Amino acid sequence: MTQSNPASRDAVEALLARARARRSLSQPTANAEAPDEPAAQIGQSADDIPASSYRIDQFDAYQTLKLQKALADQAGLENPFFRVHEGIASATSRIDGAEVLNFATYNYLDLNGHPAVAEAAFKAIRQYGVSASASRLVSGERPPHQALEQALATLYGVDDAVVFVSGHATNVTAIATLLGPRDLIIHDRLIHNSVYEGAKLSGAQRRGVAHNDYRAVDALLTRERGRFEKVLIVVEGVYSMDGDIAPLDELVALKKKHKALLMVDEAHALGVLGRAGRGSQEHFGLAPGDVDIWMGTLSKTLCGCGGFIAGCFELIELMKLTAPGFVFSVGMPPALAAASTKALELMLEEPERAAALQANGRYFIEQANAAGLEVGRSAGYSVVPVMIGGSVRAARLSTALGKRGLNVQPITYPAVEEGEARLRFFVTSAHSKAQIREAVTLVAETLAELKATHGDE
Ligand code: PMP
Repeated sequence: MTQSNPASRDAVEALLARARARRSLSQPTANAEAPDEPAAQIGQSADDIPASSYRIDQFDAYQTLKLQKALADQAGLENPFFRVHEGIASATSRIDGAEVLNFATYNYLDLNGHPAVAEAAFKAIRQYGVSASASRLVSGERPPHQALEQALATLYGVDDAVVFVSGHATNVTAIATLLGPRDLIIHDRLIHNSVYEGAKLSGAQRRGVAHNDYRAVDALLTRERGRFEKVLIVVEGVYSMDGDIAPLDELVALKKKHKALLMVDEAHALGVLGRAGRGSQEHFGLAPGDVDIWMGTLSKTLCGCGGFIAGCFELIELMKLTAPGFVFSVGMPPALAAASTKALELMLEEPERAAALQANGRYFIEQANAAGLEVGRSAGYSVVPVMIGGSVRAARLSTALGKRGLNVQPITYPAVEEGEARLRFFVTSAHSKAQIREAVTLVAETLAELKATHGDE
C-alpha cells in the first residue's frame, strides 16, 4: 500500500483549511440584505479587496486544482494526462521511448498517417501555405475548403456544409446562433460539454433528459412545446463516454410530431456506424431531411482538426454569415481541409475499415465480458468504457497499465459521476484481435492486483 508522505499531508490540510475558510467567508450572513450582490460582500475600497479577487494564483478555481493535485500526490497517483507520443498514435504508439499498445486515440479508421492523407496535406501547404490567415469572409476561401464542404454535404445528402476550426466551438457557436431566450433546448444528460456550453450561451431554457429516454422527451414536449418558439433536441450519434447509440428513429418521429429541430453530433459515429462508416444516417437508414442539423468533428475519423455543420442551404448561410465562431474566426488551414477530404474519400472507398472497427468493438466487448469486466452501456463500436468505480482507482489503474505497456486514459470525476469512473478504450480498425485480448487480460490482472493491494478506494 502506498504511504502518503507527511509533507504532502500537511499541504493538503493547509489547502483544505483555506478552502473551508473561504467557503465560510463567502456564505452570506443571516441578515445580509442583498446576498446576491457581490459588491456588498467584497469591500468598500480597494484596500478591502481580497487577493482571491485579483490574483490568479488565489482564485478559487486555481485553489481547487491545487487541492486536487495535492490529494492525488497524497494518494501516490501520477498524472495520467498529457502523455507525450513520439510518433503517429494508432493501435500502437511510442511513449517515453517505448512502444505501447494504444487505446487512447481517435484515429478510428487508421487514416492519420496514411501516405495519401499526408500527401494531400503537403500538396496543399505547397500551394497555399500553412495558414488561411484570417476569417474566410475577409481573407477569402481556398479550394480545399470548398472541396471538403461539398464532400460533407454529399455524404449526408443535404444541401450544403460549413467547416469551423474547432469541433468544440462548432457546437458552441452553432447552437448559440440558432437559439435564443424564447426557445428551449432539450439535451441528453450525457451530452458533450460543447453542446452544454452552446446552450448556456444561447440564453434558451435548457432541459437535460435522462440518457436515451426518448419517452421523457415526448412527455416534456407534450407538456411544454407550446411555451416556446423554437425547440432543439440535441443528441450524440455514439456517446463519447459510454459508447452507446442515440435512439434516432424514435427521435426523428418525435421531432416531427412536436415540430422541433433535431441536431445530431456525429463526433464518434462518423466512420464508425453504418456499412461504409457514413454514420448514424446510414445505421438507421434515415432520409436526408430527418435530421435538421448534422454536426461532426474533423479530429477523429477524418484526422484533421475542427468541426462541421451540414444541412439545408439556409442553415449554412446563417452559419457562414452570422455565427461568431465562423465570422470572427480564422478559416481552417487549407492543408487540414485537404487531409480531411482525402480521409473521407478513403473511408468511402475502403468500407472494410469501418467493418474492421465494428468487428473489433464487438470482439472487445465479448472478451471483456468473458474476463468479468463491465463495459457499461457500450454498444461495441468506437468507444468501450471499462467501468472501474472510484476515480482514484481508475487513475491508479491507468498509470499501472501504462507501466505495463498499455496506454488507456481514465475518465474520472467531474467528467463522470463519482463512482462511475472508467477506463475509456477507443477501438480502431487497426487493432488486431491479439492486441484486444492482450489489453483485456492486462486490465483484468492489474485491476485484481490493485483491489488486493488498495482495497475499496
Ligand atoms: N462533440 C463530441 C461528442 C466530442 O466528443 C468532442 C471532443 N472529443 C467534441 C464535440 C469536440 O470536438 P474537438 O475535440 O474536435 O474540438
